[in-house]
Amino acid sequence: MVRVSRRGANRLKEGHVWVYRSDIVAANGVAPGALVGVVDEREKPLGTALYSSASQIAIRMVSRDAVKDFDGLLRRRIQEAIAYRERVVRDTDAYRIVFSEADFLPGLIVDRYNDLLSLQVLTQAMDTEAVRQVIVSELAERLQPEAIAERVDPRVRELEQLPPRSPSLLQGEKKSTVFSMNGVRFHHEAFEGQKTGAFLDQRENYAAAAQYAHGEALDVFCYHGGFALHLAEHGSKVTGVDSSRPALEVADRNASLNGREIEWIEANAFDLLRDYANAGQKYDTVVLDPPAFAKSKSNLETALRGYKELNLRALKMLRPGGILVTCSCSYHVSPTDFVEVVAHAAQDMHRNLRIVENRTQARDHPILLAVPETAYLKCLVLAVS
Ligand code: SAH
Repeated sequence: MVRVSRRGANRLKEGHVWVYRSDIVAANGVAPGALVGVVDEREKPLGTALYSSASQIAIRMVSRDAVKDFDGLLRRRIQEAIAYRERVVRDTDAYRIVFSEADFLPGLIVDRYNDLLSLQVLTQAMDTEAVRQVIVSELAERLQPEAIAERVDPRVRELEQLPPRSPSLLQGEKKSTVFSMNGVRFHHEAFEGQKTGAFLDQRENYAAAAQYAHGEALDVFCYHGGFALHLAEHGSKVTGVDSSRPALEVADRNASLNGREIEWIEANAFDLLRDYANAGQKYDTVVLDPPAFAKSKSNLETALRGYKELNLRALKMLRPGGILVTCSCSYHVSPTDFVEVVAHAAQDMHRNLRIVENRTQARDHPILLAVPETAYLKCLVLAVS
């Protein structure tokens, strides 16, 4: 049993699913990763949560009720997550099936890449052998993948005080496949690349960008070419930029897979944009999709400066009538902050911007209204004059 302070209880009553350690009044003898009942200071039950002995987020709710059959709950939550995707996902065989808190399965991420599943465990509770077995068997039964791979983020495991673990196949033998989204095909290697292999949260934004893209296009921070390959369907000439050579090698294989010719440049995006902008290089479409600059609140100011600089350079290069697709995946940069930073860049460059679309993460990465932390991706499609 875990007792939470009045502030913690109020947070839960508002529909949030986290209670921070500073709001835990008593957690005597609760084991790392345990399933626990949660009560307020007057012993009134508030539901059931997963406990972490390491994280600042001490408990993550899994139910507003008492839970007698945790295995059954896990299975039901997975079924609900799958059913939700069946309703909201179109034109792809690659999408997120389980998104942690947003699917009431805190600490579990499952992505589908055609016939392969990629799983990531982020918390003590999801890391036990018993829980893993239930998850794997339910996923296998419902989705019948060729294989299920576990990806490991050593930093996350360390922070959660979990023993080191190697990435491995939890089921099956297949380690690579081809998936498609919006009719564009991509190579997938179960144990290569960043995140679980692709930035699936951008899937719907690729399609949106493609709708407005024209002329000469530049995809900055292109990774495996998600935007670039979509833009190539509409642009006359597409260039992708990334600092990772392995990422660009996959991007090039993806271009061949789709019969496209795209120029890939290995460079630091900040340097390249500065040089190109100063040299008077022009484009009709520019995509900016940098990594999260603000990993915490403390470097928000630096992050905002980074976003401003990138957007300034892009605006300098965009021809009148051009399209700027500009993204931020930092949760700590709010949608308002982001719009403001882009507006300031436009002001400095004496350009007018119209918001064609104000977008967020794809629908298979649900946003829980009561849990603001589940909304992290911002993607503005802007018409530049
Ligand atoms: N647009 C991509 C995702 C981009 S993720 C997609 O939709 O798939 C961010 C990318 O930025 C990564 O591929 C990373 O290798 C690259 N990156 C990080 N820092 C960089 C820098 N300074 N210059 C260029 N690329 C960088």
